[in-house]
Amino acid sequence: MVRYVHDFTEGGREQADLLGGKGANLAEMTRIGLPVPPGFTVITEACRAYLATGTEPGGLRRELAEHLAALEEATGRRLGDPDDPLLVSVRSGARYSMPGMMETILDIGLNDRSVAGLAKTSGHEEFAWDSYRRLVQMFGTTVMGIDGALFADALARRPDPAERPRLVAEFLAIVRERTGEEFPQDPAEQLRRAVRAVFESWNGERARLYRRREHIPDDLGTAVNVQVMVFGNLGPDSGTGVAFTRDPATGRQGIYGDYLPDAQGEDVVSGVRNAVPLQELQEHHPECHTQLCGHMATLERHYRDLCDIEFTVERGKLWMLQTRVGKRTAEAAFRIAVQLVDEGLIDWPEALDRVTGDQLARLMFPRFDTASAGAPLATGVPASPGAAVGTVVFDSAEAVRRAAAGEQVVLVRPETTPDDLPGMVAAQAVLTSRGGKTSHAAVVARGMGRVCVCGAESLGIDVAARRFTVTGPDGTVTEVAEGTEVSVDGSAGTVHLGALPLVGSPVMRYFETGERESGLVDAVARLMEHADAARRMAVRANADTPEDAARARRFGAQGIGLCRTEHMFLGERRRLVEAMILARTDSERERALAALLPPQREDFTALLAAMDGLPVTIRLLDPPLHEFLPDHTGLAVRVASAEAAGGEPDPHDVRLLRTVERMHEHNPMLGLRGVRLGLLVPGLIALQVRAVAEAVAGRLADGGDPRVEIMVPLVDTAAELRLVRQEVEAVLAEVSEQVGRALTCPIGTMIELPRAALTADRIADRADFFSLGTNDLTQTTWGMSRDDVEASFFSAYLERGIFEVSPFETIDRQGVGRLVRIAVAEGRAARPGLKIGVCGEHGGDPDSVHFFHEAELDYVSCSPFRVPVARLEAARAAL
Ligand code: PEP
Ligand code: MG
Repeated sequence: MVRYVHDFTEGGREQADLLGGKGANLAEMTRIGLPVPPGFTVITEACRAYLATGTEPGGLRRELAEHLAALEEATGRRLGDPDDPLLVSVRSGARYSMPGMMETILDIGLNDRSVAGLAKTSGHEEFAWDSYRRLVQMFGTTVMGIDGALFADALARRPDPAERPRLVAEFLAIVRERTGEEFPQDPAEQLRRAVRAVFESWNGERARLYRRREHIPDDLGTAVNVQVMVFGNLGPDSGTGVAFTRDPATGRQGIYGDYLPDAQGEDVVSGVRNAVPLQELQEHHPECHTQLCGHMATLERHYRDLCDIEFTVERGKLWMLQTRVGKRTAEAAFRIAVQLVDEGLIDWPEALDRVTGDQLARLMFPRFDTASAGAPLATGVPASPGAAVGTVVFDSAEAVRRAAAGEQVVLVRPETTPDDLPGMVAAQAVLTSRGGKTSHAAVVARGMGRVCVCGAESLGIDVAARRFTVTGPDGTVTEVAEGTEVSVDGSAGTVHLGALPLVGSPVMRYFETGERESGLVDAVARLMEHADAARRMAVRANADTPEDAARARRFGAQGIGLCRTEHMFLGERRRLVEAMILARTDSERERALAALLPPQREDFTALLAAMDGLPVTIRLLDPPLHEFLPDHTGLAVRVASAEAAGGEPDPHDVRLLRTVERMHEHNPMLGLRGVRLGLLVPGLIALQVRAVAEAVAGRLADGGDPRVEIMVPLVDTAAELRLVRQEVEAVLAEVSEQVGRALTCPIGTMIELPRAALTADRIADRADFFSLGTNDLTQTTWGMSRDDVEASFFSAYLERGIFEVSPFETIDRQGVGRLVRIAVAEGRAARPGLKIGVCGEHGGDPDSVHFFHEAELDYVSCSPFRVPVARLEAARAAL
């Protein structure tokens, strides 16, 4: 038989699932002897049962009556007693804190008769009638569904405390008029209906929205706490307050809080009256203050963490009304974790458990001093955190030009494509009107550590006119021309006109320089040292340039897990690539390839130098070749205009146009790319492998320690890998012969197609390592284009709860994760000890890092800026 009601004396903090967070902590405080007003908790299961059936579960009514009777017995007072009434509060309390999202009803037990009793026992007529007023108001709105404005207006018309009885009469009349029923005078009925209203508030709109944002499951339900009322509004010797055992903003040691004399708790939380610092309590009630400090010290030692509390002083007696492990800023989280280790309250593994990668990421970016910011100009998706100021530009070339002249720019585009890359590199921030967290702009910006806000739909961007307009909620249109200064907050997803003041990140400076300039930085540094000792997985970086590689190394990367070689085909080299694609004869193609060799070799040489002594995984070319050719529309227009003008179009343009048309694919992501390209374009693999091998030989000759690994993308079947492997080995042998020393390296493959995962045993026969490409694996498993979904149906899917989070951001454990596990199991069955890592975007996502640890991967590889986050999360996963 389920017991739906548990007394505070029966439970403890470990029972948060059953009692909710608030109930569990009230029980815990009761258990350790702190002064908690007595009461009981209706468990979450009762709420679930009520919400499922629409009626109270059998037995709840009887249990409520029994526990109420016990409470009356213990306090010597009765609910509704006309002489000396007991009053109770009814409050929600879910497993996870949902502050202010559900309902509370105070002063249950007052009615036309007991109000006189309260006036007598309190000696305070106005107080008693004001309490009744509060009850009718809260009950009327929350339980009976009356518009709160009706009560608020009546109160505003009759504010004089001496007139409370008349105001109550008006409130009771409002109830009668609006509902056709009397305000219930039976206290037991008040209690039952209040409990039901709290149950129902679990599904209120506010609560549902909050849960979606915080990823709290919808099916947990809330517990309900019924507790004897104590009053902070009984005059100057009473009051109420909230306090923290340490400063939740900075982590500074010492009690910190607010006190509101002659008030009820709700007045502090709702901010209707300004509170005073806790010192006032010390001055007016020194003994209460001493007790409070003692209780808070007890709580901190007991919970071994920052606690926040709510308390009430009733006529000089201190009562503890709530405690919980307090929310805190990222800075406070790191500082407090280390302080608690130094104080001997927790050990290092526990300290690592108390901080998160998301918090670390927040500490790494510069911030706006938001105190000085007004309303934002526009809001979008906070895609890549940080704060940047710059002048607006509308294309990549302009961004590069202005940046070269020393200007800080913000690149504004409807969306970005690989062609915008130089502009993104040059800009401080990227702002788009379309796309979400995994759009091109977002992924690339995050990779580079650029600030990015995308999908700011209120921007009307007119690239040709070099301006954008924003229509505000009140219909006013703001026009922003090229060259206007704006501030972009990638953490908040907002854009402001003008330059907001910035504060640099000392934690970022620490990762860059190793300098420990403040207490916060020291805390981060010490935690990172312990994280590195605790983790099993290695952390590598996705990096294609020596600068990125060097930074990644400073940030703690243990190698490169993915060097995408496509950037080596961009910029100036595009012409050479074009020549290779257009080549009509073998010798034309060989000439083009030969021209590409030296720059490629130099790229690899610099990369290997930056990562000397550490593994560098170089991936053969992946994207379809047409991406390196000019855009079809532009070409077609050029050719057509030349013809229309009666002249001859440029023959080179014509040839290019034919080639672009020939190579057009409806579905290029599933087309001629990756290994398919290598197998179909003669000389391409040989060119890249030769460049790698010659770079290795050069580094060896210079006394370096190059540790290259060659990786083949988009493999579907072992047969593809067998052919590529032959070619790679042949080139390695050839170069070995030329340089006079044996050059070998591991040759591995990406696992980024479902078929590859499902046939991993066969593929492992030919692969020295696997690297999971979870971007393409997610795309092909879900059958959703990684470049398009964000702009089309993603927000609707998130909105309707089909996704809780984008599978391109956090690994989908059930689907894609299953393929990952199959690939790991079968790959290692075929080749024991096979080294397996991941190099998709998920490698830097905290939740996904935990999954990869569980799936027994050897390493994760992520963008350089996420390396510290991955180090921390890999350690937390191993705890
Ligand atoms: C992947 O698909 O996960 C991957 C790392 O490759 P890319 O993002 O370059 O397609
Ligand atoms: Mg891929």
